[in-house]
Amino acid sequence: MLALVKTAAGPGLSLETVPDPVVGINDVLIRVRKTGICGTDLHIESWDPWAARTIVPPLVVGHEFVGEVVEVGSNVADFERGDIVSGEGHVTCGLCRHCLAGRRHLCAHPVGLGVGRDGAFAELVSLPMTNVWHHSPDVDEDVAAIFDPFGNAVHTALAFPVLGEDVLISGAGPIGLMATAVARHAGARFVVVSEPNPVRRGLAARMGADVVVDPGARTLQEVQAELGMVEGFDVAMEMSGNASALRSAIAAMAPGGGLAILGIPTEEIPLDINEIVFKMLTVKGIYGREMYETWYKMTVMLQSGLDITPAITHRFPFREHEAAFATARAGDSGKVILDWTA
Ligand code: NAD
Ligand code: ZN
Repeated sequence: MLALVKTAAGPGLSLETVPDPVVGINDVLIRVRKTGICGTDLHIESWDPWAARTIVPPLVVGHEFVGEVVEVGSNVADFERGDIVSGEGHVTCGLCRHCLAGRRHLCAHPVGLGVGRDGAFAELVSLPMTNVWHHSPDVDEDVAAIFDPFGNAVHTALAFPVLGEDVLISGAGPIGLMATAVARHAGARFVVVSEPNPVRRGLAARMGADVVVDPGARTLQEVQAELGMVEGFDVAMEMSGNASALRSAIAAMAPGGGLAILGIPTEEIPLDINEIVFKMLTVKGIYGREMYETWYKMTVMLQSGLDITPAITHRFPFREHEAAFATARAGDSGKVILDWTA
């Protein structure tokens, strides 16, 4: 099969012919149709310090995908050829305390698809059946391709109740954009999105933000005054990984607020813990998606009118992966999709 491979330690990815994946008795073999490019793939492609200490080449990269089941292992009863599925990108151990208790998102030993095992930027991908999600037939194929990051957005956006609350989202990358639409759909009063990139601010407005803010131009306190907010944001979602975004969010939160942190900073961030203590904020780290409560919520919110399609801005045939990666890296985009059927 053809696959996008990190062949050796160092920058770059190349389209290679590699052996088809092995299908174990508990595995599902999937013919990939569409994939989404994630920041993780960009880190692996550029071979930054995180990739250099994490990735062992050769590795097929990629974890956001939709595809069609083509073969199942002998133990697999609930998937059939032709089923349209996606994969949960965290392959959990099944043996640790939280896995045994059914809280698989808290697994102590998760292995990342396209990070710690061969991934989905390929014509075929094999996954344990416990990592495969059946799509309902009404899900748009491009949306199905990005259920993984959509799940990050939903996991974060539903970490604290948003009904009737004032919400701040820091960072309008693909995940912040989707979280904007989810917060709106879930009944927030005001959704304010802070983002330095004007293209992404425009996308955030299309996703349903009431106000988009350039953090270099205006303070969140000015925005709050303009909206008639009195005590600050009730819920904040940190989706930038940026230090000043995190500090500004904490400073703009109301007493008793909930702060969900998804963004991954590249270095330590000094914080004034007094602000967290005296406002009695609840801080929650978010990693991945809940298996499979988040996947269920994604499906039913789409069925009840949630539209995340404006967050998908670019589509490329897989052979044009270099142009696709360059587009995703440049940042004037939402989600970038690679089409493996073209
Ligand atoms: P992204 O890098 O495309 O988006 C981050 C956005 O933050 C960019 O648009 C950037 O312009 C913006 N930003 C930079 N400085 C800012 C500031 N001071 N204030 C407000 N915004 C600022 O990333 P993404 O793919 O949307 O992912 C969002 C974050 O979540 C990233 O940090 C990513 O590494 C992380 N992530 C975490 C998980 C997890 O499971 N915890 C999973 C996927 C991604
Ligand atoms: Zn586990």
